[in-house]
Amino acid sequence: MEMIQKRQSSRWHTKAPIIITDNPDGCYHGASVVNISSEGMYFETDQAFAPESELWIKLILSLPETSGSQAYNDFHAHVKHCRPIGSNGHKFGIGVQYTRALRMVRCDLCNCKVYHEQAHKVEDMIHMCSDCYIRLENLPDDQIRASIEDYLMCNII
Ligand SMILES: [Zn+2]
Repeated sequence: MEMIQKRQSSRWHTKAPIIITDNPDGCYHGASVVNISSEGMYFETDQAFAPESELWIKLILSLPETSGSQAYNDFHAHVKHCRPIGSNGHKFGIGVQYTRALRMVRCDLCNCKVYHEQAHKVEDMIHMCSDCYIRLENLPDDQIRASIEDYLMCNII
């Protein structure tokens, strides 16, 4: 019989790329997220990590291709389980629990709820979901973009 597990928080399914390491001064390994919740995440990578080992995770936020830069948000977590997946034994599914739960914030443009770590920040005060951020960054006119940012800032201060 299949066990039904009640999750404490809803999961955000994503294919977001992340990079992970068990040594922040060492090299990072690429991985791809399967799902993220406010307490932890599950991802797949080609590197095994022992249960309870400490991991530093950087979530790579999607930015417009034209901007030429990448943004990162950091997570600190412990490995809960690490299992080989697939047939060749070179891939692992890893579940981690953050050392600190994520908090939710609202997108200041469309009002949808996003994880703080998933939100794009403007001037440290405005939070935007990826959709709104990409839409704003892709506006053809710098003047319009600046006006919207000013408008949002005025609403907050
Ligand atoms: Zn939004």
